[in-house]
Amino acid sequence: MFGSLVASAKGLESIDERMLQCGLSRRAFLQFCATLMIAAPYGLAITDKKTPEDVAAGLGKVIRPPILWLSFQDCTGCTESLLQTSHPDFGDLILNVISLEYHEVLMAGAGMQARQVLDEAVTKYAGKYVLVVEGSIPTGARGIYMKTGGRTAMDVLADVGGKAAAIIAIGSCASWGGIPSADPDPTGAVGVVDLMPEKSIVNLPGCPPNPYTLLGVLLQFAADGTLPESDAQRRPKFAYDRDIHEHCPRRAHFDAGNFVKQFGDEGHREGWCLYEMGCKGPETHAGCSTRHFNEIPDVWPIGIGAPCIGCTEKSVAFRKPMFEVVQLHTIAAPPTSFAPIPTTHGHISPVATALVGLAVGAVAGGGYVASRKYSMVLGDESVPGARPPGDGASGSSRPSGPDNDAGPKASA
Ligand code: SF4
Repeated sequence: MFGSLVASAKGLESIDERMLQCGLSRRAFLQFCATLMIAAPYGLAITDKKTPEDVAAGLGKVIRPPILWLSFQDCTGCTESLLQTSHPDFGDLILNVISLEYHEVLMAGAGMQARQVLDEAVTKYAGKYVLVVEGSIPTGARGIYMKTGGRTAMDVLADVGGKAAAIIAIGSCASWGGIPSADPDPTGAVGVVDLMPEKSIVNLPGCPPNPYTLLGVLLQFAADGTLPESDAQRRPKFAYDRDIHEHCPRRAHFDAGNFVKQFGDEGHREGWCLYEMGCKGPETHAGCSTRHFNEIPDVWPIGIGAPCIGCTEKSVAFRKPMFEVVQLHTIAAPPTSFAPIPTTHGHISPVATALVGLAVGAVAGGGYVASRKYSMVLGDESVPGARPPGDGASGSSRPSGPDNDAGPKASA
């Protein structure tokens, strides 16, 4: 399977061939394969039910996919996210695992030089390259809000996207408009799929999405020409099949009714649930709660105390107010208080009451006798029968014995 469809591309190398040429270590490549397996433990053909060695052996035969990357109305956050990959480091990743032919932010060239590179790559790899689009496309006033190299973003997308084998819309902006499309949407921002619905397009929404999700999709396509199974919004299921709330580390606080009421309060400092702060975790499908950002444990919005804004959901992020509380439809509403502890109230019979009374009376009587018999505290009026010394009274009830004789004497 591996390398079968794209291997016919002339002049392209396999990842193994490239690794031999450039000295990319086997260890670094195995680490990359293992990280890919963590990002996509199932649902991705290249990693499904395999060991890192199996994945490396398969991927080694894959022809390095030529990638063209276009940036439209964006903040470059998706590129920044990719820059944080460390297994292997970014240089090895874009030069030796994939073949990044064009990326306006990362390339040294600019102006006509860059335009020339783009045109050459489109011609050379026509029908074979994967186009990655970052940012939304402005369509208002026939796209005049964004021009590059004298062409509107709409024209550039039609040209470069039209000749691509597949398109990956990375980030919420390229997926459906994202931040630029928020009301009042002055530029008429849309996602790639709105302009090219007939193309093979995968949406990877998120602000930003996990870069290993992108690499998993790219390498699967390079391996066998297929795209991973997607949901109705064209998001690959292996990365978007669960909601944040199900796997949130603060979920126990949600179930216990422990909610942050305002930023900086005690609950916030203790890491309680952010539901009442507008957390959109219960209606957001993404893997952030288990695949943290920048490969640093606990680095993701909820992990650092910020409510989830639902950036992977078309109808949530940049559509609903950030601090609006989610209406729960499919899961139990959070408790407003703890449930009372159930107690059973049985009937107490008069006989049982009498027996308990007898027992209590016997214990109290025994205690009284013992206190008279064993008290050592002279003059303690709470001890019936105790008398202070020297009062001349005979028949003291104090027991005789060495202990009592040697005991402390109350002063007259
Ligand atoms: Fe986590 Fe948000 Fe769900 Fe609370 S509401 S458990 S913070 S996802």
